[in-house]
Order: sequence, then structure tokens, then C-alpha cells
Amino acid sequence: MELIDLRFQGREGVIASAVMGGPRGLVIVDPGPTSCLPALEAGLAGIGGALADVRTILLTHIHLDHAGATGTILARVPAARAFVHERGAPHLVDPSKLLASATRLYGDRMDVLWGRFDAAPADRVTALVGGERLDVAGRPVRVAYTPGHAVHHVSYLDESDGTAYVGDTCGIRTAGDYTIAATPPPDIDVELWQASLGHIEAWQPAALFLTHFGPAGAARAHLAHYREVLTRTADAVARSLAVGDTDEARAAVFVAHMRAEARQVLSEREAVALELAAPFEQIWAGLARYWRKKAPAA
Ligand SMILES: [Zn+2]
Repeated sequence: MELIDLRFQGREGVIASAVMGGPRGLVIVDPGPTSCLPALEAGLAGIGGALADVRTILLTHIHLDHAGATGTILARVPAARAFVHERGAPHLVDPSKLLASATRLYGDRMDVLWGRFDAAPADRVTALVGGERLDVAGRPVRVAYTPGHAVHHVSYLDESDGTAYVGDTCGIRTAGDYTIAATPPPDIDVELWQASLGHIEAWQPAALFLTHFGPAGAARAHLAHYREVLTRTADAVARSLAVGDTDEARAAVFVAHMRAEARQVLSEREAVALELAAPFEQIWAGLARYWRKKAPAA
């Protein structure tokens, strides 16, 4: 497996694609947004490949930082096809609702951040439910349904080397193993998420590959640590809902705390890259929405 740093917004260590070679062409896990397509192509060239060699795109989920370039790649590479959970597939084929929802988060920065999001042809998208055993360009790959971060999130286990491609299910890990929860609106569900971590643990993966950012070798230790991070972050947001006058004020206190905590471990540059991968306001907003859905009176 090769890691390609997509150099999101010109920064290293924010979004990683994984590329695997097989007897029948290249496999890309999460090709990233269209704004990063030049970096993806440069990365493929660096390992002796090219976009035209891609036969399979495995999507963990359809958020723009993971899947934005899918339709563009399918248009340019007629022999390629994409795999995605059945609840994500309709939005790849008709992204209008997905883009409307993302525009509520990113406003007029949509284009600068992500670039275009071309629709994928329905006949080149394979919908997954979880539990599949795929032959992906000659490699044996298992699929698990891993909701929590998104209702349509899946993870993949490459059985040839034991690497689990977990998208955002195992959080966002940066320099020094510093890990935070990836909890943007609107789908966050902490109970489902903990169960999804159980599915990944049951695979007993040799290694994890996180989109943000890259391999976590000590898979068991990372999974156990991430369970704690998720619980702790969810609890912090729950407590914040009980105080303060406005959501802006509650979010601001949470964000200030996150920023200070990150800078105890990370350099300024690393902390900024981390917040590009997961804006801290969104971590608060996704968990606030989750708690209010659970207990509407709160
Ligand atoms: Zn995501």
C-alpha cells in the first residue's frame, strides 16, 4: 500500500489517499476532493502509476474531503468503478442534496476547498451493505458497515496484508499520535460508532489506515484509545449544553479548549493542519445535534 498526501490547501498531513496495486490495476481508497486531483495524479506518477491505471475506487463515505473527485475520475477513466455504501450511492449519482448540505457548513468557500463534484454514472457505482467479501482488482477485501461518523460509512479490510481502511471511524490522528474525534453534523451517533469500533476490532487488523492521517500501526491500542477520546469529547459537549446563553458561546468555549489542548502536544503548524481536517466548531455542532436528538429537552 502506498500513501499519497493530497496536500489539501497546500498543507501536508491533512488528507491521505491509499493506493494499492493489484494484478488488475490500481485501487484507490478515498481519492479526496477534486481540488486535490493534481496532487493525487502527482502522487500516482511518483509510484509509477497514472490515473488511467485506476480500476477501483473504494469509498469509506461520501463526504467531500473523501469522495469529491470520484465522478471526475470515473469520467476520465472509463474502466474504473466506485464502491460505496448503499445509503451513499444515490448521492454520488445525484449530489444535489449532498452539496446543499455541505454548502450550509462551508458557504462560499465550497469551491476553493473542494472544487467541483461531478455526478457518477449509476452503472459504475456498486452499492454495498456491509459483510461483503470483494475481489478488488485481484485483492481480497472485506467490507463492514461502520456508521457513527456518517450513516453511510463503511470500512474495508485488505485480507492480503491485514490493513483496515477505516476512513473517519477511528478519528483523526496527527503528529505524536494526538487523536481527536471526527464528529461533524448531521449524522453523529456515538452508540452506533462504538459498535462500529467493535466490528473493526473483531477483524483483528494488523494496521489501520486513517484518512486523517495515514497508518496507525498499533491497531488495538489505537482503537482502545479512540474509544476513550470519543467518549470524552461527547461528554464535554454534553456538559457544554447545560451552561452558557447561546450555542455560539458554548461552541466558542469548546473550541478554545480544543485549541489550547492541541497546542500542548502539537506545533502551531500541526495544530492548524489538524483543524483543517476537522474544524473544531463542527466537532461541537455534530455532537450537540446528537445529544439534542437523543434528549430533545436538553
Ligand atoms: Zn467524513
